[in-house]
Amino acid sequence: MTTKTKSHLFYQTRLRRPTLAQASGIYMWDVEGKRYLDGSSGAMVCNIGHSNPYVLEAMRRQMDKSTFGYRLHFETEAAEQLATKAASLAPAGLDKVFFVSGGSEAVESAIKLARQFVVATGQGQRWKVISRYPSYHGSTLGALALTGYTPMTAPFDPMMRQMPKIPAPRAYLDGLDPSKIETGHHYADMLETRILEEGAETVLAFIVEPVGGASTGALVPPNGYMARIREICTRHNVLLIHDEVMTGGGRTGRFFAGEHWDVKPDILIISKGFAAGYAPLGAMIADEAIVEPVLSAGGFIHGYTYAGNPLACAAGLAVIEEIEAQGMVKNTQRIGRLLKSELEGLMTRYPFIGDVRGMGLLLAFELVSDKATMKPLPKEINAFHRLVDIAHDNGLIIYSRRTRGGLEGDHFLVCPPMITTADNVGEIIDLLTRSLDIFAKEASLPVRSNAA
Ligand code: PLP
Repeated sequence: MTTKTKSHLFYQTRLRRPTLAQASGIYMWDVEGKRYLDGSSGAMVCNIGHSNPYVLEAMRRQMDKSTFGYRLHFETEAAEQLATKAASLAPAGLDKVFFVSGGSEAVESAIKLARQFVVATGQGQRWKVISRYPSYHGSTLGALALTGYTPMTAPFDPMMRQMPKIPAPRAYLDGLDPSKIETGHHYADMLETRILEEGAETVLAFIVEPVGGASTGALVPPNGYMARIREICTRHNVLLIHDEVMTGGGRTGRFFAGEHWDVKPDILIISKGFAAGYAPLGAMIADEAIVEPVLSAGGFIHGYTYAGNPLACAAGLAVIEEIEAQGMVKNTQRIGRLLKSELEGLMTRYPFIGDVRGMGLLLAFELVSDKATMKPLPKEINAFHRLVDIAHDNGLIIYSRRTRGGLEGDHFLVCPPMITTADNVGEIIDLLTRSLDIFAKEASLPVRSNAA
């Protein structure tokens, strides 16, 4: 890596990365001309690829008209059009759209709307929002209280109202068959047990990532899980919130991941792929039956300055139009199947790949020291950092987290943009193979030659 001068910027760590010069399609170039394949669409954000000319043109057109109009002073065509489009894509009945600028803001909005709804309808004793462990719902303190990822939450525990957690349905770790409906019911019923333990009359909502994101590494729920969760929430008047911050926008092979199971949540949130990195944007989409009582009771006591700003909304609308015009959701299904089977193919060469999972182009693989028991690699290897760095050096960007609630285990998200071609998949697998070979050698892990 190049030596760099002192920076006045800071993020989570002292890690320095090359300076980005340019990005186009699935590729990015640093200022020294080195090319990277964006194999994780940033943080699963740039779903339509970089520098899409249609989106850039739509943003330019909006900039010529106005870049900001404060929502208490003006309505804008861009926000209105995008709200109409988002409501048309959401399950029937979810037709009220509240704009924000990112995922954490969307999560905060959802739990505050849920809370105000119960207060407005005489159920003020409901305040607990149940979530899963592991999970990721954002970095602000409200969203963090729902997040199940110990290293991120522990320092802030005294500052947060603890929210109850149930285990995420990690059948692959528990030796259960995810294709069996009983497996889905086994995990979903943990929600009902927890609701009853907490006192159903105190539970406000359950929040779930329909397909897991960074914290679980693309965890797909077992059969029967999502439908049973819906039934349980309905039975106990608990609001169901689908956190589609990462899955929304086509990444799993449907515009919203909940469509795979035909489940309608009460509140749906979307962010990353919504404006695909062209502008900070997110939304909460809620059932009118939840929004109206809140507005009648004096209004939704919540909001952000940049909400619904026309430039972000114009970008968001153009992104969705491009997804539709180029048939990107279909491509995601097709290329996702190919990439997943190629990743599964790597398990022969690298016996330390314990699991490959995901849907569409939300895919991940997990490294272990023993496939039979799914025992993680020794923590000191720091595989989740090391392999990402090796891949970066080789010109491939992937995304990683520790699998077991952040405490140990290593998984890697391979989530290239939804415009990825079959040739690009070949390139991703070549770069990954090169990187895994180097990593295996460094960590003294076995590699089987292809002939073996
Ligand atoms: N919810 C989910 C499922 C996410 O994956 C993320 C971010 O990774 C968030 C919420 C928080 O989004 P943001 O980082 O935009 O605040």
